[in-house]
Amino acid sequence: MAIASNDYARLGHATRTFLDRQHGHYINGAWIMPESTLAVIDPSSARPVSAIGAGGAAQIDMAVQAAHAAFASPAWKALSALERERLILRLADLIEQNASLLAELESVDNGMPLGFAGINVGGATGVLRYMAGWASKIVGDTVEVKMPFPGSQFFAYTSREAVGVVGAIVPWNVPLMMAIWKLAPALTAGCTVVLKPAEDASLTALALADLIGQAGFPPGVVNIVTGLGREAGEALVCHPLVSKISFTGSTATGKHINRLATDSLKKVTLELGGKSPTIVFDDADLDQAIVGAANAIFTNSGQICVAGARLYVQRGVFEQVVEGVARQADRLVLGAGLDPSSQLGPLINARQQAHVQGYIQRASAAGASLVTRRTLPEADGYFVAPSVLANVRQSDALVQEEIFGPVLAVLPFDDLDEVAALANDTPYGLAASVWSNNLSRVHQLLPRLKCGKVSVNTEGFPHPALPEGGTKQSGFGRDLGRESLDGYLDTKTVLVRVS
Ligand code: NAD
Repeated sequence: MAIASNDYARLGHATRTFLDRQHGHYINGAWIMPESTLAVIDPSSARPVSAIGAGGAAQIDMAVQAAHAAFASPAWKALSALERERLILRLADLIEQNASLLAELESVDNGMPLGFAGINVGGATGVLRYMAGWASKIVGDTVEVKMPFPGSQFFAYTSREAVGVVGAIVPWNVPLMMAIWKLAPALTAGCTVVLKPAEDASLTALALADLIGQAGFPPGVVNIVTGLGREAGEALVCHPLVSKISFTGSTATGKHINRLATDSLKKVTLELGGKSPTIVFDDADLDQAIVGAANAIFTNSGQICVAGARLYVQRGVFEQVVEGVARQADRLVLGAGLDPSSQLGPLINARQQAHVQGYIQRASAAGASLVTRRTLPEADGYFVAPSVLANVRQSDALVQEEIFGPVLAVLPFDDLDEVAALANDTPYGLAASVWSNNLSRVHQLLPRLKCGKVSVNTEGFPHPALPEGGTKQSGFGRDLGRESLDGYLDTKTVLVRVS
């Protein structure tokens, strides 16, 4: 049976009204209508459902000027930390009150199942609420300073100050969540922001703009310009009044942005791609490990930066685990995001679908064997069957490169030394997960894994208090956790001669 595309009769009135709206850029607290537009495509049907503005250098300049003025304005600068906290908490409440609108928009725009979209909306409010509390706890140090001048006394301290205008550029895979991971710490620190959402999924950012206005943030504190990366995104990275670029996206774009930002020595945070390993030892609870390994790669159709795209299984239990993960994959229900029975949505666009299918075809042609048995039903949308591939080599593109789709490469290993080397043997260093009931083994392995996050006997869910980010070509800097604030703060040292 063919996979049906989204049934729009399921949408709430607010969502239908929002899709029909003419969308502009949110600049200085007002909507600026665009000169040209980009189609919003529903990935379940490949059909246009709305349109967003195609912003460029002119709109980015307006937005940055507004953010620059807002940064110095008493309406924002003179707010106390507690008042900033209250605004952020109000935004979280408004997101909660509009959760079904935001989840429906995310599902239509990105393709993700509505249930997963709802989890992400809840996650976004959690991040805002966690971060808001830090506003009143941003403090410096007092430092004892003695100098060899007779009778002299000094008083010295450091203070933490907001860096200024932040350019936030985010991808399409979990659009609202990614925007909030940038906005929450930036606003907590007292920065102002120009957000450039991904051209493939900008609707929830635009809905967020309404809520930011309703929450009472002064005009210009948050500005949102939609458009293409090489136009709006690049103009933001190169704008001289932007102090910091906080980017989440592919490694290739991250490197390009980092080179552009070097010219003006902007602060840069890069949350980039990954090829994260799931490692299953023979002493693990295999039932749990099988479900965990399957969820690690197939959630959001593999379009998750920390997706467990490589599965290493100790040789004695290799067949059992791989067969188990493949059966999990075969059972997943593919469908349009708004269909309540759907567990796996389409990929974001035709390019990504072709990109993912290309990896499966090239690997199969080179001798890899597909352990999953499902054949993909007919569909108008950008669906790809979840696929588990065995008989692959560590050096294969399938094992080395980020695919960002529901594709799992599986390899056996014999011992801890071998799996530590295999796990680290890609250009990336984002995340890893380890399944074992042998504490000694786990703790011998953990320090040897070169990555930003490791989960043990669990999937690596994000939590507002736990930093997320990578090493190697997965980038630098952290989102979430107290540490994320550091990227939005400068340190000022003050030395006072008292006598
Ligand atoms: P992408 O790099 O193509 O685009 C990301 C954003 O950058 C978009 O808003 C895009 O418009 C913009 N952009 C593109 N070219 C630009 C340029 N020249 N100058 C300025 N901005 C530009 O990535 P994508 O395909 O949207 O997202 C998928 C990637 O994101 C994957 O590699 C994934 O691993 C990564 N990702 C990483 C994390 C993390 O936390 N490490 C989280 C989610 C996604």
